[in-house]
Amino acid sequence: METLEVRTQQREQFVEITDNVQRLISDAGVRTGAVIVYVPHTKAGVTINENADPDVVHDMLLTLKRLVPKDAAGYRHSEGNSDSHVKASMMGSSCHVLIDEGLLVLGTWQGIYLCEFDGPRTRQVLVQTIAS
Ligand code: ZN
Repeated sequence: METLEVRTQQREQFVEITDNVQRLISDAGVRTGAVIVYVPHTKAGVTINENADPDVVHDMLLTLKRLVPKDAAGYRHSEGNSDSHVKASMMGSSCHVLIDEGLLVLGTWQGIYLCEFDGPRTRQVLVQTIAS
């Protein structure tokens, strides 16, 4: 298992980590298999989505903010970041990507993102490659 450290700059931000994950696979020399990308945090997640048009990430963050307001009547969690927890679970804690000929098998427009919802912080992304 390898660990990527990702420094986020904003409270809510998607940071693309595709190249970092690919580098770990290349360094490990895995040609065929899969990789698990896992985020051990309760207010950050990981997702795969478009990396060509940055407006897609903008619109995803906008939609998440609208769906899950920072302050909403009824929240009990005393840290005041219930929205961050909910958004992290919506994105999920892990993703899997296949590896073929030493490369991540991603669609033309797909990238892997760390999703920050309570930054800025330094986040860990755990990466486990599984050779087949
Ligand atoms: Zn909390």
